[in-house]
Amino acid sequence: MGCRDPSGLLSPYNFSRRVVGSDDVSLDIAYCGICYADVIWTRNEGGTSKYPLVPGRHEIVGIVKEVGSNVVERFKVGDPVGVGAYVNSCRECKYCNDEDLEVECSKGAVPTFDGIDADGTVTKGGYSTYIVVHQRYCYKIPENYPLASAAPLLCAGITVYTPMMRQNMNQPGKCLGVIGLGGLGHLAVKFGKALGLKVTVFSTSISKKEEALNLLGADNFVISSGQQQMMALSKSFDFLINTASGDIPFDLYLSLLKTAGVLALVGFPKEVKFSPASLSFGIIISTKS
Ligand SMILES: [Zn+2]
Ligand SMILES: [Zn+2]
Repeated sequence: MGCRDPSGLLSPYNFSRRVVGSDDVSLDIAYCGICYADVIWTRNEGGTSKYPLVPGRHEIVGIVKEVGSNVVERFKVGDPVGVGAYVNSCRECKYCNDEDLEVECSKGAVPTFDGIDADGTVTKGGYSTYIVVHQRYCYKIPENYPLASAAPLLCAGITVYTPMMRQNMNQPGKCLGVIGLGGLGHLAVKFGKALGLKVTVFSTSISKKEEALNLLGADNFVISSGQQQMMALSKSFDFLINTASGDIPFDLYLSLLKTAGVLALVGFPKEVKFSPASLSFGIIISTKS
C-alpha cells in the first residue's frame, strides 16, 4: 500500500524490491504494526516525506523465503523473522562495529521507509508483500511465538526494553513506576512484571485502571493528578519510565525516586523542565494544584 500525498490516504501501489544479494534476506511479510511514525510520515508532518511512500516503518514480521549465499548460517527458508526501524548502515564505524549501535552510525543509519539506501533508492516499508534486507538488520523470532504479537516488540518493545536493561532494571523486588499506559507503557508493565519488579502505573485516566491491574498485572495504579496520593509516594521508586507524550510535572516525579534512582524518558513531551533543586535536595519548588 502506498501513499501519494500528504492526505495520508493509502491505496494499492506496485513496485519491486532489489534482487537478493549474497548478504540479504528476503521475507514474506505476515504482519506489520501501525506506529504513530507511520501517521506522521504519510502526512508529511516532518516535511521530509518522499512520495509515493510505503509505510510500515519498523514493526515488520514474516517468514524467510530466500537467503543469500553468506546468510545460510544465520537464517534459512521458513524461519520466522522480524525487521525493525533500520535496514542499512555503514557497518564500518565504531558505532556499527564496536558498540552494536547501528542506529547511531556515523554515516547515518538508513530507515526502513523513506530513507535513501546505499544504491540511491528510497526505502519502502512493511505495508507490502515482501521485503529484502541485509541480514544484519533482520532478527530471528522464536519458533511458535505468535507473529502478530511479535510485531510491536520491534518498536514499542525495544523502546522500553533497552533503557530497562541498560539501567539495570532487571532487579527482582525493586519498584518501577510506568508513566502513561499506551503502546509503550503497556509493554513496560509486562517487561517489569516479567523481570520481577513491583510495578505501579501512573495515568491521568481512571479508565486505564482495569487494564493496568487486571489485564497487565500491575501491582498498583495511581491517578497522577491526585496530589496527595503522589506526595505519599515520595522516595519510594527505584525506577521510573516516562512513556507519555504529554507534558508531565518532572519535579514531582523526580521526588518519587529513591536516592540515585533512575528516570528513563522514552516519550516525547514538548519540553523537559525541572528544578535542579529537586535533584539536589528533593525539594518540590512549586506544586500548586
Ligand atoms: Zn514505532
Ligand atoms: Zn556505521
